[in-house]
Amino acid sequence: MELIHSGKVRDVYSDGDDLILVASDRVSVYDVVLPTPVPDKGKILTQLSLWWFERLADVVPNHVVSATDVPPEWIGRAIRCRRLEMLPVEFIARGYLTGLGLKEYEKHGAVAGVPLPPGLLEGSKLPKPIFTPTTKATEGHDEFMTFDDLVGEIGGATAERLRRVTLEVYERGAALAAERGIIVADTKLEFGRAPEGTLVLADEVLTSDSSRFWLADEWQPGRPQHALDKQVVRDWSSTVTDWDRTPPGPPIPDDVVEATRARYIQLYERITGTTWE
Ligand code: ATP
Ligand code: MG
Repeated sequence: MELIHSGKVRDVYSDGDDLILVASDRVSVYDVVLPTPVPDKGKILTQLSLWWFERLADVVPNHVVSATDVPPEWIGRAIRCRRLEMLPVEFIARGYLTGLGLKEYEKHGAVAGVPLPPGLLEGSKLPKPIFTPTTKATEGHDEFMTFDDLVGEIGGATAERLRRVTLEVYERGAALAAERGIIVADTKLEFGRAPEGTLVLADEVLTSDSSRFWLADEWQPGRPQHALDKQVVRDWSSTVTDWDRTPPGPPIPDDVVEATRARYIQLYERITGTTWE
């Protein structure tokens, strides 16, 4: 199999008409991959993504071909999927204001052309979820697109459909998570086109690498929120005084690795309502 792409966290292999997406145990903070893996992280996130794909199948078809027809050494952490022609857009829905959305709001009072009321804070809940697509820059930073920009890029009918699907995926995910005490602040989806023209949900879905999860009972607008997954690593890394946040990163101490692994397992168990074995 040919390795065609290696991201910070995942590797993508080509196998005939399919791709195999393999999630590693690598962990990154401030966009720097640290030298110490977090055991099982790749498996946990892959299983969470598969769980969501299945639950969202009535909203939108997905790219999953098989989670078992993969090389045995990757079982659990790999997904065989259809190779799609990806749309060059990150389809983002936000229910809360944070990250780049917050920065944009502070500058323009709007995000991706969607006006928002004045007075919102870091972490505020939005009056209703908004659709805030961005470009998918191969170099430099992703930029917000207005709905008209999106129509220009992918056509009116496709833009309308994917806005509706993106918001529905977010709302479903957020509602399910809310029952379990978790806030989904925002989520990023990727879509591609199958050879027969169908629009298909690709990449990963509602994992902590593509979405922000917060504990509902710790949520407090007006300050940064604690991310359910990587906060332990971030907090520890901010105490490493001789690291300037450029590669190479420092090795992660054992107790921080263990605490991080426990957070990933907690997220999986809370969301799916099943036990991680
Ligand atoms: P990083 O995660 O380090 O920011 P990245 O996004 O390039 O970088 P990955 O997310 O690991 O890295 O890479 C997965 C790549 O595979 C992405 O470019 C994604 O758009 C693409 N992809 C996902 N699913 C499919 C699919 N079904 N067909 C074609 N490409 C896909
Ligand atoms: Mg990616």
